[in-house]
Amino acid sequence: MKTILCLAGVLALLFVCRPLSAFQLGEADFTKAETKVIPVRGNITLIQIHVPQDVFHIAVLSGPEGYLLVDHPEAAGNPLVQKALDDMGKRPVKFLLNTHWHYDHVGGNEIYGPDAIIVAQENVRKRLMTKQTPAWSPTPIGPYPERAWPRITFRDSLTIHFDGEDIEMDHYANGHTDGDSVVYFAKANVVDVGDIFDSKGGLAGGVDMEGIARSLSAILERINDQTIIITGHSRFSNRGELAMFVPLLEQTIAHVRQESSAGKSEKEILDEGLPEAWKPWFAPGAVPVDRDFMHQIYATVTHTSNLNQ
Ligand SMILES: [Zn+2]
Ligand SMILES: [Zn+2]
Repeated sequence: MKTILCLAGVLALLFVCRPLSAFQLGEADFTKAETKVIPVRGNITLIQIHVPQDVFHIAVLSGPEGYLLVDHPEAAGNPLVQKALDDMGKRPVKFLLNTHWHYDHVGGNEIYGPDAIIVAQENVRKRLMTKQTPAWSPTPIGPYPERAWPRITFRDSLTIHFDGEDIEMDHYANGHTDGDSVVYFAKANVVDVGDIFDSKGGLAGGVDMEGIARSLSAILERINDQTIIITGHSRFSNRGELAMFVPLLEQTIAHVRQESSAGKSEKEILDEGLPEAWKPWFAPGAVPVDRDFMHQIYATVTHTSNLNQ
């Protein structure tokens, strides 16, 4: 009941889709932030930090052994996160998991490392260790200081046993980035998908849209109707929404591939917009013109996508 009330409370929050990064490192105004601490299920809590430009999510597993966090906004947001953690019971942060390398997910690494063990897919470590020049950032990002580098990395999958919970991280494919992890809390039946999916009405994108479709299909197979889905920047979601989204994405990929092989240019395909089949996903709103999302699908099917993002 508690969870249902909490979920109802955030249903009103619907965030529109964004490109890979709608605004830049250092632009989030944490002086105007509002923090919400939302019980999810079992000993999982979600810290939501709302800034004027966006919302950031930190999933927290708490128990006698300490805290395990999934993601953390940039370091400037840490006082807010730490205050929320202190209010929850002043436990030490023992593990920090990164769903991917973007600055709005790894900002806690330099704060809590090396005391907390940072865990991520192996490409996250590679990217944090070296200067990154993604197309969406006007300035290079990193390299991050050594204390921010993940200490434990994996290629496909890894499980952490902590606070009585089994926490599994899976890298199914390149998707939003080349180092995405999906984090399952097996006992609580909660999954944190990071930025590879936005709840109903949203369109998460990335470097490989076929990879996102593959990853989301794998999640769909794995979860059930009771699973609570935590996303990087949108409200809570569930299996029903994911089951609606996956075929739409798959159909759109197939459609763009067909159009492209028939000789249509990228501009012509983008000008047509999202197929009408998306109507239920955006209802009661209209299907938006989303050139970024269509461009990412086009880049995927034509193998012109730049993984360096
Ligand atoms: Zn991201
Ligand atoms: Zn993000």
